[in-house]
Amino acid sequence: MNKETTMNEIISFAKEKGFVFQSSEIYGGLAGAYDFGPNGVELLNNIKAFWWKENVQKKPNYYGLDSAMFKHPKVWEASGHVGGFSDPMAECKNCNTRIRVDKELEKIGVAADEKMPEDEINRLFQEHAEEISCPKCGKQDFSDAKAFNLLVKSNLGDFTSAGSDPVYLPGEACQGIYLNYKNVLDSMHPKIPFGIGQINKAFRNEISPRNFLFRTREFEQADTQFFVEPGKNKEAFDTIKAARWQWYLDLGINPKNLRWSQHDNLVFYAADAWDVEYNFPTYGFDEIEGVHDRTDYDLTQHAKHSGVDLSFNDNGNKFTPYIVETSMGLGRVFLAVLAEAYQREELAEGDERTVLRLQPNLAPTKIAVLPLTKKDGLPDIAQDIYATLSETYNVSYAVSGSIGKRYRKADQIGTPFCLTIDYETKDDNTVTIRDRDSMQQERVAIDELPEYFRNKLS
Ligand code: ATP
Repeated sequence: MNKETTMNEIISFAKEKGFVFQSSEIYGGLAGAYDFGPNGVELLNNIKAFWWKENVQKKPNYYGLDSAMFKHPKVWEASGHVGGFSDPMAECKNCNTRIRVDKELEKIGVAADEKMPEDEINRLFQEHAEEISCPKCGKQDFSDAKAFNLLVKSNLGDFTSAGSDPVYLPGEACQGIYLNYKNVLDSMHPKIPFGIGQINKAFRNEISPRNFLFRTREFEQADTQFFVEPGKNKEAFDTIKAARWQWYLDLGINPKNLRWSQHDNLVFYAADAWDVEYNFPTYGFDEIEGVHDRTDYDLTQHAKHSGVDLSFNDNGNKFTPYIVETSMGLGRVFLAVLAEAYQREELAEGDERTVLRLQPNLAPTKIAVLPLTKKDGLPDIAQDIYATLSETYNVSYAVSGSIGKRYRKADQIGTPFCLTIDYETKDDNTVTIRDRDSMQQERVAIDELPEYFRNKLS
């Protein structure tokens, strides 16, 4: 990103270039929900694939999972979500706008969070009443802060509308992993320590969804839960924390835009908790992932509520494993990747371009195949090349407009290579390949293209 890049610029760009659209836009939009467009879904899938490869497939003691989103109602009681998954909410007495009090306090530099007792947060709220205004009408007249539960209910299986136990949408992705811990033990017979990873959706009735993809009511999480013998959790935590930092560097994030932040105020069962924060344009540093030492809380709770033994038997040594969790929000990481890669550049002679400097593995399209003209059989050669390369890569094809304009369009969505078929191609079976970042061009023989891209894109 450039120094002066704002989030509004990224949001407009994301819409204009088919990355992210507001959900239900033709009906005026739905707060807290977004759709990923043609380029967005490719980028999102590439981020997920990279995460899955590094965190599940390349680790011999990690197992993948994809659990159903609907779960038994008791799951959310055992996890503590029915009783305690809430944020402190207050309502403007003038216009009924709801605010999240801990976040409003944080904005004015007061240390507050959603885990504080209600009387404590209200004390701070009153103390700073003159610094917090309604974002809609500007008045400073609010109700007291009250805990507002974030779980989203569904009416699944409730045909009488008198059901007593609602089936909730998942408030977090990790519960599916705890529920399948025993299934993984019984089917895969892992040795301890081992991990389970999954990417799954989560839903939260956020009081004020805002900041584009940063705080939505529907989002995706990529989670790993690592099961370790009690006493070995601290060492596992440190190793996992270091690996997560490295993953972000490998994703192409500049370390100067990343930092760790340790939680001061832990939930009662946690032994340690750190957030990875990214320096977003306009918003500044904020959380993109949490790394948590959850002790044996989750398995103990589910064992108690289900009546099923969830201990691990390590050659006669029986214990309930501790869990070290990593939980990454995909929407937030997608936004970080987009902001990081987005660049406006001055070129020679007053020319300018916007380029997404995405790593090739993340780029929505890897190669743009461009016949120089619509005539003289050039499109036929281009179509053949397209057909071959698209077996392996996501390749685009464009025949209209000047070649310079087509290069600019490819740069804007981060396509690492443009491949041009011109009149020389007809003579010597070579094409021009232009590199997105250096804008340098070279001639490559058509039959060497598979090898060329294997080297460049592996
Ligand atoms: P916050 O304090 O910002 O509300 P959190 O601490 O509640 O976040 P976790 O429950 O630890 O978040 O969830 C793990 C990850 O899921 C977060 O690091 C974030 O990337 C993502 N996440 C959580 N809530 C949202 C949301 N409303 N919209 C988008 N992503 C979210």
